[in-house]
Amino acid sequence: MDEKKEARPIRRVVIAGGGTAGWMAAAALSKTLGRVLQITLVESEEIGTVGVGEATIPTLVTFHRLLEINEQAFMAATQATIKLGIAFENWRDRDQHYIHSFGTTGKDHWTAGFQHFWLEGRRRGLARDYGDYCFELRAAQENRFAHLPNGGINYAFHLDAGRYARFLRQMSEQHGAVRIEGKIRQVCTREDDGFIEALELEDGRRIEGDLFIDCTGFRALLIGQALGVGFEDWSHWLFCDSAFAVQTASVKPPIPYTRSIAGEAGWQWRIPLQRRAGNGIVFSSRFIDNDSARATLMGSIEGEPLIEPRLLRFRPGQRHKVWEKNCVALGLASGFLEPLESTNIHLIQRGIIRLLQCFPAVLEQAEIDEYNRQAEAEITHIRDFIILHYHVTHRRDTAFWRAAAEMSIPDSLQHRIDLFRETAKVFRVPNELFAENSWIQVMLGQGLEPKSWHPVTGLMPDPELRGFLESIRGGVERGLRQLPVHQRYLETYCPAA
Ligand code: FAD
Repeated sequence: MDEKKEARPIRRVVIAGGGTAGWMAAAALSKTLGRVLQITLVESEEIGTVGVGEATIPTLVTFHRLLEINEQAFMAATQATIKLGIAFENWRDRDQHYIHSFGTTGKDHWTAGFQHFWLEGRRRGLARDYGDYCFELRAAQENRFAHLPNGGINYAFHLDAGRYARFLRQMSEQHGAVRIEGKIRQVCTREDDGFIEALELEDGRRIEGDLFIDCTGFRALLIGQALGVGFEDWSHWLFCDSAFAVQTASVKPPIPYTRSIAGEAGWQWRIPLQRRAGNGIVFSSRFIDNDSARATLMGSIEGEPLIEPRLLRFRPGQRHKVWEKNCVALGLASGFLEPLESTNIHLIQRGIIRLLQCFPAVLEQAEIDEYNRQAEAEITHIRDFIILHYHVTHRRDTAFWRAAAEMSIPDSLQHRIDLFRETAKVFRVPNELFAENSWIQVMLGQGLEPKSWHPVTGLMPDPELRGFLESIRGGVERGLRQLPVHQRYLETYCPAA
């Protein structure tokens, strides 16, 4: 056994930062390894958190199950509502909308996915909207929800980010994590190998550790500033670099989906919580100035603003490595993709689960390399999916949309687009977040039309194909009748509503 490694077992974990990333990490580590690790989290109230990040995807339900979080308690504490998907408004073209839902559309045959049968049905005039064959999508449109047995409905949450951090903090402290309030002044590294040995606070306190988790947000104090890990910039594909965020009082019952409304040089989000809504505009400062973006947002929100709009600046991209020496970066410190598909909290959760699965007794470079390889594959796949929304569009009405349509895109994405356009096929590589159904919903929604589809569909006579499509649609509509209105369900499921 290597003497150097034996001398440095991982017993003390220091988490720098107490936003969503820091407290998710603290909750998961303390719940699973709290009895063998000393876990300390340092955060600064004066600096605060980014305070946005309120739309999630279904993997958060799984994360909560792993941590044995009581869903009703969580929903009551965070003012959460249900999310069944995202409505993309004006993305394909002005006044054209579609929903990317969390459900599965139709039923696949072993030879070909449902989209092939739907395309053939549409050609023969036998098929209705693609979304009519998806239960979650129709439930979103009808504003309905209930938990169903055997995972019968796939859902996520809209949540209040500040309340979520407080909820996770309480859970982490119950499992032994220790919170330290203070501002980090310096990250101290060892002379021999450059590993981090301690965080020094402004009041002179020193927090020593064996493994450090950088959750300091865009500042990336440890991974970026102290360890000098560089950043791969993706702004040539993703032009948006700024956002204004504002909270408003609710003016109507919450709908069970996020709205994403494309504008002249970016898009706006609407996230309905139980008593308030999160609103924002994501934009490219190359194509629209701050004042115009702010005015566009404030001119279109519904309900009284509860705070002044806050300007946030960001750079899309990813750290060259998210684990370097004895420092793992999570959340905004590790990289950033605009919240178009609500994937950042998911990436935090993936980073935490991966860390837990390969939790090192001592640091092994091979494990660190594998962690970095997986993290890179994950975010690259999501990056491609987000670029798809901008690049495949009929919009040419502003310089922003023309530039997005004309840019060259990553080869990996070009391949998916070409394959779908020529053959209607989509393949999922194992461990990718977005399954075939997501790609198909967005590709069709953005107006990408396949030129051909599987010949097996041509063998079905009209009555058989009509019967097949109608049996699926009938099942979806029958299922919908079991579901109460979303707001009613929230009132009984988490009575704080
Ligand atoms: P932060 O919330 O910024 O937390 C950083 C922490 O580090 C704070 O506690 C701060 O006090 C501490 N800190 C920093 N410096 C110091 C210091 N010197 N000393 C002590 N402490 C320090 N994600 C989604 O999944 N869904 C969404 O809908 C979504 N919407 C978004 C919208 C916008 C406009 C943006 C910018 C992001 C959005 N995200 C979304 C991303 C999401 O907000 C983040 O992934 C999430 O909030 C995690 O942030 P964080 O914890 O990494 O950073």
